[in-house]
Amino acid sequence: MSETKPAENPTPAPRRRPPPRRAVVSRVERLTPRMVRVTFTGEQLASFTWNGPGAYIKLILPEEGQSEPTPPSPDGPRPTRVRTYTPRRFDPAANELDVDFILHGHGPASQWASQAAPGQVVLIGGPGPSYKIDENAERFVIAGDETALPAIATILEALPAKAKATVRIEVQDASDEIPLQSAASLDVAWVYRNDQPGLANCALEEAVRNLPALADAERVYIACEAKAVRRVRRFLLEERGFAPTSIVTRGYWQIGEANHPDHDYGSDDENGRPIPPQRPTPPPSAS
Ligand SMILES: Cc1cc2nc3c(=O)[nH]c(=O)nc-3n(C[C@H](O)[C@H](O)[C@H](O)COP(=O)(O)OP(=O)(O)OC[C@H]3O[C@@H](n4cnc5c(N)ncnc54)[C@H](O)[C@@H]3O)c2cc1C
Repeated sequence: MSETKPAENPTPAPRRRPPPRRAVVSRVERLTPRMVRVTFTGEQLASFTWNGPGAYIKLILPEEGQSEPTPPSPDGPRPTRVRTYTPRRFDPAANELDVDFILHGHGPASQWASQAAPGQVVLIGGPGPSYKIDENAERFVIAGDETALPAIATILEALPAKAKATVRIEVQDASDEIPLQSAASLDVAWVYRNDQPGLANCALEEAVRNLPALADAERVYIACEAKAVRRVRRFLLEERGFAPTSIVTRGYWQIGEANHPDHDYGSDDENGRPIPPQRPTPPPSAS
């Protein structure tokens, strides 16, 4: 009997990302004083796929002086205005993709969103991987700041009816609150910002630390500022004994840093030092 020989060259071929899609703004809606929903459409969006809650897209914005972004090419310059956002809703029948932007006041994406108007064009890459809901779990703790609000909203909408979710969201004030829908039983509380100098999400951190529901939680999802998420992750692992597999933590932005890497899981190494997040995924190349 002959043995199967190992492949000569087992190195997998590099994963080929589809090129980013040209997307045209069709509607702009102010959801709260600090949150804008931009609805995109366009022929190329027809191939977009909804891959589940808490996924992400790479948004390529026009460079200074451009009316629309140039599709990236292997030989061309790398676009500089690339940022990570959450697909909030995709309606294939209407060919519409909603993205909810926080207007935090700095940075090209926040500034672009504050002036967005129908007819404007961006490029959209992705979607990247989503949050996998554990269908066997019943008790969830879900927390984040406003940048995670779109992800949290999609997760809550995807939870099964048997689930119970304790939800804590940090915002500036009551005007930032939006309705959240879910088949699950929700205990939602909005916490208002009380940051100390140089620190973000202190109110969220305190709310999570003091949460009685943590004692029974089977799954925890937290996304917020990168340093805050590390503090909370350490607390969950070291003081509350959570298994790393039952928590998902994501650094969505970092104080003082533009374009914080999108693959930031808020982890520490075995010596308790923060593991630097991977660099942002390069925008999909045009083929
Ligand atoms: C997977 C993922 C999904 C995300 N989904 C969303 C989403 O759906 N909606 C959304 O609004 N954001 C989302 N974010 C966060 C968003 O990518 C960042 O806030 C990003 O920095 C915004 O880009 P910018 O060009 O406005 O600012 P940047 O140029 O990146 O930063 C400029 C300055 O603004 C500061 N800054 C950035 N964000 C904030 C903030 N929220 N509050 C205060 N200061 C800030 C930075 O520290 C920096 O000093 C997501 C991030 C990730 C990783």
